[in-house]
Amino acid sequence: MELVFDGHNDVLLRLWRTAKDGGDPIAEFIEGTTNGHIDGPRAKKGGLAGGLCAIYIPSGDLVLKEPDANGHYVTPLSAPLDHLPSLTIALEKAAIAYRLEQAGGWRICRSTADIRSAMHEGIFAAVLHMEGCEAIDDDLDNLETFYAAGLRSLGPVWSRHNIFGHGVPFAFPMSPDTGPGLTDRGFELVKACNRLGIAIDLAHITERGFWDVAKTTDQPLIASHSNAHALTQVARNLTDKQLDAVKESGGIVGLNYAVTMLRDDGRDNVATPISDMIRHVNYMVERMGIDHVALGSDFDGASIPEEIQDASGNQILVAALKSDGYGTDELRKLCRDNWLRVLGKAWHE
Ligand SMILES: [Zn+2]
Repeated sequence: MELVFDGHNDVLLRLWRTAKDGGDPIAEFIEGTTNGHIDGPRAKKGGLAGGLCAIYIPSGDLVLKEPDANGHYVTPLSAPLDHLPSLTIALEKAAIAYRLEQAGGWRICRSTADIRSAMHEGIFAAVLHMEGCEAIDDDLDNLETFYAAGLRSLGPVWSRHNIFGHGVPFAFPMSPDTGPGLTDRGFELVKACNRLGIAIDLAHITERGFWDVAKTTDQPLIASHSNAHALTQVARNLTDKQLDAVKESGGIVGLNYAVTMLRDDGRDNVATPISDMIRHVNYMVERMGIDHVALGSDFDGASIPEEIQDASGNQILVAALKSDGYGTDELRKLCRDNWLRVLGKAWHE
C-alpha cells in the first residue's frame, strides 16, 4: 500500500453538520460511518494517512445550476458572508478538530516532522487549512490567533468575493479569468502568510488573483485541489500558463477527484471512469514534471467517481497509476513526498 497525504478534504464540514444535527462527530470519525467519505477506519483501509483539512464556511445559497442541452452551466457566485458569523463557525469547526485530537482520532500537525511521525505511528496527520478567509478580520489579528492554534494553510477566497479577493464560479465551459484579483488587504494577507509560514492555496481564486499571489509570495505556488483546464474547461481548473507558473515556482497541483472537474463534458456524473483521473495526472505530469503533481481529493466536498466511492477506495487510484506505468519513486512523490516538500518550503523549514 502507498500511503497518501492528501491536499484537500472537507471532513470537518461533514462532522460539523453531524454536530449541528445532534450527532457525535468524534464517535463518527473514530468508529466510522457510511456518511460521506472520510473517517478513521475508511482512511486506514485506503491508506489515507493524512491531509489538509478545511475549515470552510458554508454558503447556504449554493445550488449548482443544471446544465443546458449542450452541457453548459454557470452557477452564480454565492453571496459574500459577514465576518462575525463566519468566525463563529470557524471556531466551532476548529473545536471539533481539537476534540478529535484529544480523543486520539487524529493528530493536528504543525510541521512536516509532525506529519511524518503521525504517519509513521499510523495516526491520521491532519493539517488545518482555511478555505476562504471570511473568519479573518481586516487587521489580520485572527490570523495570528489561528496560526498559534495550528492553522498552517489558507486559501484567501472560496468561490465567492470577500475582503481579500475574488473567487471563480462553478461554471462550464469558462476561463478562470472571471474577475478582479487580490484587494489591498489580500496583498497584506499574502505578506502575513509569508512572514508566519502559512501555505497559500490558489484553488478557487480568479486567474488575476492567482497572478497577484504569484508576484507577491515567496512560497512555491499551491493549488491544492484543481485539475487541467485544457482537459476539463471549468473555471476552477488551471490553464497551461498557470501550470507553467506552478512548475516554475517549485509548487504543486493536487488532483481533485470531483467528477465535474475530471470529465471532458464537465457533468456531475459519478459514473466517471478512473481513466479520467489518470488523464489529468498524466497531462499535468507531462506539462510540469513529476515533482509538481499530487493528490487533492476533495473528499467530503464533492461528487467523486463511484469506483473510488470514499477514502477506503484511494488505493484503486494508486493501483491505476501504477498500471499506467508510474514507478515506486514516482508514486511516492505523487502520493505524499511532493506535498511534504512544498509544505516544508511554505513553513520555512
Ligand atoms: Zn474547494
